[in-house]
Amino acid sequence: MNFQPKLHVLFRHDEIEATVKRLAAEIRKDYHDKYPLLIGVLKGSFMFMADLIRLLDFPLEVEFIRLSSYGRDRQSSGRIKVVQNLSSEVRDREVLVIEDIVDTGLTTSFLLNYLRKKKPASLKLCSLTDKPSRRQVPVSIDYLGFAVPDRFLVGYGLDWNQKFRNLPDIYVLED
Ligand code: 5GP
Ligand code: MG
Repeated sequence: MNFQPKLHVLFRHDEIEATVKRLAAEIRKDYHDKYPLLIGVLKGSFMFMADLIRLLDFPLEVEFIRLSSYGRDRQSSGRIKVVQNLSSEVRDREVLVIEDIVDTGLTTSFLLNYLRKKKPASLKLCSLTDKPSRRQVPVSIDYLGFAVPDRFLVGYGLDWNQKFRNLPDIYVLED
């Protein structure tokens, strides 16, 4: 595969940093005395999670879960599975899910239903980005970074065929 897609910057790292700071302040206000369990959805949320928790100066736990939804290219298959599960108990915990992006909403709503069955004390969602124009099932985002257009994004954890996760800025991948 020698195809080299064109990338156009959408959010520079300093803008992302300011947004992560704002989200951390909102989360701090609600969770500083709750010892929350933050569950990052792999792989896309790893960079966001790492930046976010460095700004949270109170006790919390970090977990990751890996789901499969997208196939190799840009389309959601709609069939979602847990590929790598949690190693902490969710029951009676104050759970905050950390997502990179909510697109059709299929993955996130699957995950929220999956976690709800485990009877957490509370369950909320923080997503760095939201593509509302693509929604197929309703998902409400409690802490949102950026609303984004219906374009394919890469960078800051987001990939295209596993590439570009390492870029510090967020880009639109041109067709
Ligand atoms: P959904 O199930 O909401 O359609 O999307 C779930 C997952 O698809 C997201 O968590 C993300 O991993 C991937 N995804 C959706 N939109 C984009 C995008 O614009 N860029 C990248 N890299 N991944 C996306
Ligand atoms: Mg994701």
